[in-house]
Amino acid sequence: MAVQREPSLSPGLRQQLAKIVGAEYCLTDPVARESYAYDSTPGYRAFPAAVLLPASTEEVAEVVRLCAEAGLGITPRGAGTNLSGGTVPVDGGVVICFTRMQKILSVDLANQTAVVEPGVVTAHFHQAVEAQGLFFPPDPGSQSVSTLGGNVAENAGGLRGLKYGVTRDYVLGLEAVLADGSVIQTGSQTLKNVTGYNLTQLLCGSEGTLALFTKLILRLLPRPAARRSFLAYFTDIERAAVTVPTLVEAGVLPATLEIMDRITLQAVEEFAHLGLPPGLAAMLLIEVDGQPAQVEAEAAMVEAVLSRSGASEWQAARDESTRERIWSARRAALAALSRRRPATILEDVTVPRGQIPAMFAAIESIASRYQLEIGTFGHAGDGNLHPTILCDLRDQEQISRVEAAVAELFDAALALGGVLSGEHGIGLAKNRFLHRQLDRTVITLQREIKRVFDPQGLLNPGKALGVIP
Ligand SMILES: Cc1cc2nc3c(=O)[nH]c(=O)nc-3n(C[C@H](O)[C@H](O)[C@H](O)COP(=O)(O)OP(=O)(O)OC[C@H]3O[C@@H](n4cnc5c(N)ncnc54)[C@H](O)[C@@H]3O)c2cc1C
Repeated sequence: MAVQREPSLSPGLRQQLAKIVGAEYCLTDPVARESYAYDSTPGYRAFPAAVLLPASTEEVAEVVRLCAEAGLGITPRGAGTNLSGGTVPVDGGVVICFTRMQKILSVDLANQTAVVEPGVVTAHFHQAVEAQGLFFPPDPGSQSVSTLGGNVAENAGGLRGLKYGVTRDYVLGLEAVLADGSVIQTGSQTLKNVTGYNLTQLLCGSEGTLALFTKLILRLLPRPAARRSFLAYFTDIERAAVTVPTLVEAGVLPATLEIMDRITLQAVEEFAHLGLPPGLAAMLLIEVDGQPAQVEAEAAMVEAVLSRSGASEWQAARDESTRERIWSARRAALAALSRRRPATILEDVTVPRGQIPAMFAAIESIASRYQLEIGTFGHAGDGNLHPTILCDLRDQEQISRVEAAVAELFDAALALGGVLSGEHGIGLAKNRFLHRQLDRTVITLQREIKRVFDPQGLLNPGKALGVIP
């Protein structure tokens, strides 16, 4: 738990900042600051000295310039839904929150691109482009609140990652404010561009440590004309896990291939009353999409695999409302699990898809050895699992077991050729584990890159760059 004493700004600096963004958007009273002291990651909390809500690139640049002169740290923030402590202002500097910058500036039908401000809510953007026959695939489970700027900074994934990739695959360019307040433009509106180093891709996933995004140029696709969804129930988790690589080996590339285990299903059933059969060990959610003929062909392949999979029962979603109910329940998996215990520690380990069965076995063994309840769900098609430890942070003895279990989860994923994080980032929560995946030379190189962008170390201090043991 990060503890932060009462940070504050000098009256002169506060006045200057308020002049830039407007007094009502420069929050300094303790109650307002407390709302920005934490994010969706349990166990981290630190008060900022002030919270600034700028409305334009110019205001962001002026605020950053002033902070740079004062040597004050800046924590960028969208909706604060990240799960790695990435927006907790541990240095007691200022938070720059982008939620007022929420305009969709243009949608270009001919080029299938859009230019947006960073505070646009992901689901609002989906709705806006879908109304024009277009499609923005990245769909994190938090889409109804998360912002596109936060999605880019975390390189967020989602339920459609297997076929469509992650946020990074849809970012063509950025307008960004650097740590000295200068404004740069990276990338372009063109699909092809090999002029210079690919700074756009470097900034995607940089977790607010290199620059502050003020505009995003996003790539869109035509909206898929058809889709078919399937549910498969298993009384044996291993059979479900093995079905994941089997489907892909059979030549199907589902848009969505999600898994929920027994504990998650119980929680979801209590929460959403789906009428699931009792005694389930796992459920797979599968969706294929595209042109109607292609969807029919892929659906037939899914049916063939499911009929040989050992599923106790499987079915195609009967209609759109059934599909929506099931998908909403999947998106509510974390919320459903979090109703069972005071805290949920959600991890994000990712392994090569073929190792999903081995990762499930490792999670089960860790849960049993540390006597912890772990509900696992996730984007199985991407090899990205969210083992979620249900616990009580007030119980010190339990916390030590949780910490040991988390370290073992990471080691198990790495031993299977996996990674520490598939989509939630390193932030604060995984900072001390970074060296288990990246060697000293790579961590040093990353720190050198950080120094070039941010010589004073003002942008999102304390995050993502690891601790060299
Ligand atoms: C219920 C739930 C489900 C989730 N499901 C998924 C999922 O399926 N896939 C997934 O990938 N994640 C998921 N997440 C995690 C989280 O929602 C994503 O990381 C999301 O992209 C964060 O967006 P945000 O607007 O909340 O960003 P924040 O949490 O506010 O910020 C995230 C990071 O971005 C930086 N940042 C924010 N705005 C800017 C900016 N304009 N410029 C530079 N840096 C910036 C912050 O400093 C921070 O490091 C989920 C979270 C929850 C609570």
